[in-house]
Amino acid sequence: IMPTETFEFQVEARQLLQLMIHSVYSDKDVFLRELVSNASDALDKLRLAKLRDDSLDADVSDLHIELEIDKDARTLTVRDNGVGMSYDEVGQLIGTIAHSGTAEFLRELREAQDGAGAEGLIGQFGVGFYSGFMVADEVTLLTRRAGERQGTRWTSRGEGTYTLETADDAPQGTSVTLHLKPADPDNRLNDYTSVWTVKEIVKRYSDFITWPIRLVGETGDGDGAAGPETLNSMKALWARSRDEVSEEEYHELYKHIGHDWREPLETIQLNAEGTFEYQALLFVPSHAPHDLFNQNFKRGVQLYVKRVFIMDDCEALLPPYLRFVKGVVDAQDLSLNVSREILQQDRHIAMMQRRLTKKTLSSLKAMRANDAERYATFWREFGAVLKEGLITDPDNRDALLAVASFTTTHEDGATVTLGQYLERMPEGQDAIWFVTGESRESIDNSPHMEAFRERGIEVLLLTDPVDEVWVDAVGEYEGKPLRSIAKGEIDLGAREEDRSEGEREQQAEEYAGLLGWMRERLDEEVKEVRLSTRLTVSPACLVADANDLTPALENMYRGHGP
Ligand code: ADP
Ligand code: MG
Repeated sequence: IMPTETFEFQVEARQLLQLMIHSVYSDKDVFLRELVSNASDALDKLRLAKLRDDSLDADVSDLHIELEIDKDARTLTVRDNGVGMSYDEVGQLIGTIAHSGTAEFLRELREAQDGAGAEGLIGQFGVGFYSGFMVADEVTLLTRRAGERQGTRWTSRGEGTYTLETADDAPQGTSVTLHLKPADPDNRLNDYTSVWTVKEIVKRYSDFITWPIRLVGETGDGDGAAGPETLNSMKALWARSRDEVSEEEYHELYKHIGHDWREPLETIQLNAEGTFEYQALLFVPSHAPHDLFNQNFKRGVQLYVKRVFIMDDCEALLPPYLRFVKGVVDAQDLSLNVSREILQQDRHIAMMQRRLTKKTLSSLKAMRANDAERYATFWREFGAVLKEGLITDPDNRDALLAVASFTTTHEDGATVTLGQYLERMPEGQDAIWFVTGESRESIDNSPHMEAFRERGIEVLLLTDPVDEVWVDAVGEYEGKPLRSIAKGEIDLGAREEDRSEGEREQQAEEYAGLLGWMRERLDEEVKEVRLSTRLTVSPACLVADANDLTPALENMYRGHGP
C-alpha cells in the first residue's frame, strides 16, 4: 500500500478550477450531464475491451450508471461499472488538462480576461469532470481499472492540490462523489439532493444515453421495494424518426458525442434501407475547432453496430474534407469485431461514405438556399476545409461548387457562387476572373486590380491558401476558364480612351530605351519588361507567366523553402 500523496494541479488546471469554484454561471445543472457522459463513455470502453479480449477480468453482465443521493451527508454520487482508471491514469486524466476542448477553452479564457466573458465561456465549452466543482466543495473519485486488483482514490477541494491513494475496496468502475455546497435558499431548483431535480436533469440532458441510469438508495418515492428506477428511456435517437425527436434532444446527443457545449449548426439524418442497412445522425458544429488543420486532427464519426458502440473517430465513413462533421453511424450488418483496417477496405463502407458525403453536401446546399445567415456562419468556419474537396473529390465537384461561396469586388460582405458570377457576367466576358492573396486589403490595393476596377469587371477575391490549388485543379466552370488577374497577357478589350494601334507602336519605340535599360538592370529578377494596358494609376506591376505559380503560391513555397 502506498501512502497518500498530495499533488499540485497544473497552473492551467488551477485557473480552471478557480473559475468553476467561483462560477456564477447560471446553468450549473450541466455538471451532471458531464459526469453521466463520462460514465457512459467508460461503459462503452469496457464493453468494447471485453469484446476484443474475452479473458479480461471484468463483469459486463449488467453495465449501468447509478445515481445516489444522501440528503444527510449532502452528497450526490455518480457511479458506473465501466472501464475505470489506473492510478497513473487518474493523475494524467484528472489532474491535468489534457484534452483539446479544455485547452481551447483556456486559450479563449486568456483572451477574454474579464469575468463576464469567462462565465460565457463556461457555457460555450464546458470543462467535463471539473464542472463538478461548480456545485461541490469537495469531490472524491474512487476507481478501479478493469482487469486490475487495486483501486485509486482521488480527492480534492479544488483549491490547488489533490490527493491520490491506493484503495483496496474499490469496486469495478468509477464513482464520483460530490459533496454539495450549501443549498441556495433563493433557488430551490439548485438543490441536487432533491430526487425531483436530479430526475428532471437526467431526463433533460441524458435521456438518449444507451446505458440505464438508475436512481438508487433513498429515492423519496414509495418504499423502493420495486428496485432501482431507470430514469432514461435509452432510445437511440438515430433509430427514431425525425418527427418523434425534438431539436433539443438531438442537440444533447451532439454535445455528448462532440464533447462540445455549443449547439450544432445543422442536424442531418439518413436512414438507409435495403441489403445493407444503416442509420446515420450527423452534425455540423457551429465552430471550427482549433486543430482542424493539424496533421493529427481526430476526425470521423462514432461507429455503432446494432446499437453497440464500436469506435470513436471512424475516418472511413467520411472524406477528409468533411472532417468537421460529427455524429453516429449505426450499421446493421457489420461484424462487432470490425477493425479500422477492415473498414478501410470494405466496399460497403466505401458505399456508405459516398452516400453520407452526398447527403451532407445536399444538406449544405439546402442550408444555403433556405438560411443564408446560418450558411454564412458555416462557410466562415468550414469553407476553407470544404474547398479541399474541389481538389480531392472530382466526383462531387459540382455539388461542392454549388455551395462554394466567394467574396468578390462587387459585394461588400456577401458572397457568390461561381453560378451566380456567371449569371451576372456581361456579354462578351470570356473568363471568370479571380485574384489570390493574403487578405482582402492586400488584394484590393494590388495594381493588377486597376484595369478591372476601371472597367467594372467582377473579380473573385480568394484569400485561403487552398484557393491557389483548387482553381488550378478545377480549371473552368461551365465552359468559362478560371483566370488569375495576375498571370499572363491580359486583353480586356479596348476602351474609348485607349490608344490606337499606331499610337501604341509609336509608344513602344519611344520607350524602347527605357525598357532595354530596365531589362538589363532587372535581369536577375524578371524574365521580361513590357508596356501594358492593364494599369491605370500605378506605373508598373509584376506579372507572372500564364504557367507560372501565382505570387501568393510562390510566397508560400518560399516560406516553406530552405
Ligand atoms: P472528456 O470527457 O472531454 O475527455 P473530462 O474532463 O470529462 O473530459 O474527462 C477527462 C478524462 O477522464 C476522460 O477522457 C476519461 O479518460 C477520464 N474519465 C472521466 N470520468 C471517467 C469515468 N467515469 N470512468 C473512466 N474514465 C473517466
Ligand atoms: Mg467528459
